[in-house]
Amino acid sequence: ERRNPGEPEFHQAVHEVAMDIIPYIADKPIYKELKILERMTEPDRIVSFRVVWQDDNGDIRVNRGYRVQQNNAIGPYKGGIRFHPTVTQSVLKFLAFEQVFKNSLTGLPMGGGKGGADFNPKGKSDLEVMRFCQAFMTELAKHIGPDTDVPAGDIGVGAREVGYMFGQYKRLVNRFEGVLTGKALEFGGSRIRTEATGYGAVYMMQDMLSHHGETIDGKVCVVSGSGNVATYCAEKLIQLGAKVVTLSDSSGFVHDPEGFTQEKLNWVMDLKNKRRGRIEEYTREFGGSYHEGQEPWGVPCDLAFPCATQNEIDGEEARTLIKNGCRGISEGANMPTTPEAIKVIQDHPGLLHAPSKAANAGGVAVSGLEMSQNSLRLQWSREEVDERLRGIIRGIHDQCVEFGTTAEGHVDYFRGANIAGFNKVASAMLAYGVM
Ligand code: NDP
Repeated sequence: ERRNPGEPEFHQAVHEVAMDIIPYIADKPIYKELKILERMTEPDRIVSFRVVWQDDNGDIRVNRGYRVQQNNAIGPYKGGIRFHPTVTQSVLKFLAFEQVFKNSLTGLPMGGGKGGADFNPKGKSDLEVMRFCQAFMTELAKHIGPDTDVPAGDIGVGAREVGYMFGQYKRLVNRFEGVLTGKALEFGGSRIRTEATGYGAVYMMQDMLSHHGETIDGKVCVVSGSGNVATYCAEKLIQLGAKVVTLSDSSGFVHDPEGFTQEKLNWVMDLKNKRRGRIEEYTREFGGSYHEGQEPWGVPCDLAFPCATQNEIDGEEARTLIKNGCRGISEGANMPTTPEAIKVIQDHPGLLHAPSKAANAGGVAVSGLEMSQNSLRLQWSREEVDERLRGIIRGIHDQCVEFGTTAEGHVDYFRGANIAGFNKVASAMLAYGVM
């Protein structure tokens, strides 16, 4: 805390990992002597920079941009860019730290990083977003590259923003190279990248249930968020025969007891990605109810998929989920459960709970596959990418079982993911000696 004052999200993420890693390395003195965990908590570097742009009224605006390059022991830094007014160095450090373990779990050669700015894309015109993205990339370009650091999207950064940033990078360096992932198909993107995080969160749930002799078919699901991760999570659930009854945004949630269909979901995607509207508009089109200022965790469900943002399920909400008979939680968002909620859930080992570093690794996994395709100068088919994604998630699930099965025979997916993610990075760091 003395070294990182005022960084509660970063402390929370490190604490959650350290609680599993410290006992694990207790009988491995080399890790302790060489301070591997301490080294992992200190980013390789952080760049923070001024982003100046002009709004449509001609007024000058100033924002702060960052890139946290956390660890490149097993590959180039890799992780998304977030544009949201709540972005701080603490939030990006927590995300970058988590990303190191997540990327390691995918089995692909990627280090961890994260970046972003306190820019709020809401209510901005297309041209304002473009000018911001170009100004942001003008500085960021000095610090990234296809073998150095390969950013992607995150909250507030989707296909449109990646396009503006990639265009500006290409113009600055005069090279066409795979420096960002999440690109459109026309300029080096991968099929299934848009869907990958949401699909992956569902595949993880499928694997957890199947490990316990159950399936997704017929399960009632509560999903939060209505962005990239939430909508594709809902899409895959519907394809697998589940009934999705909620979606939300930062203003409230909609409850559709009949369940979302693909057609309703397409309408939501259009609302969010093209018209950039609010989720409450859904009820005017399809009925159901809207709950202003609330989160959906009180709606009875079999499965819960938090897909909006960090700390969206607190202890009380975790208790409500359990009381209502929830069987599983798969974290599409990063760190959506508070420490208290994790504790509540751990006291109910019957509730399957996949941590974000395992459950939402599908996004970065397909980003890794996008890098491979860019290096090969090839584009794989939808089926090929989806099959690889499916295999990667299965691999992550199996690592969680290998390292997380307790003496009582239940699987602690948090512990399993932390230890499996740690092992590979720690071995690489040991091999490099003291640095
Ligand atoms: P989007 O910007 O596409 O969507 C975010 C959704 O969450 C929106 O519905 C948004 O509502 C809501 N939201 C954002 N902030 C808050 C908040 N403070 N309180 C309540 N709701 C909020 O982002 P993504 O879907 O890409 O990301 C969602 C989560 O998934 C994040 O935690 C992200 O880090 C994680 N993730 C994303 C990956 C990806 O590939 N995109 C990969 C791995 C993890 P509103 O429209 O009102 O802002």
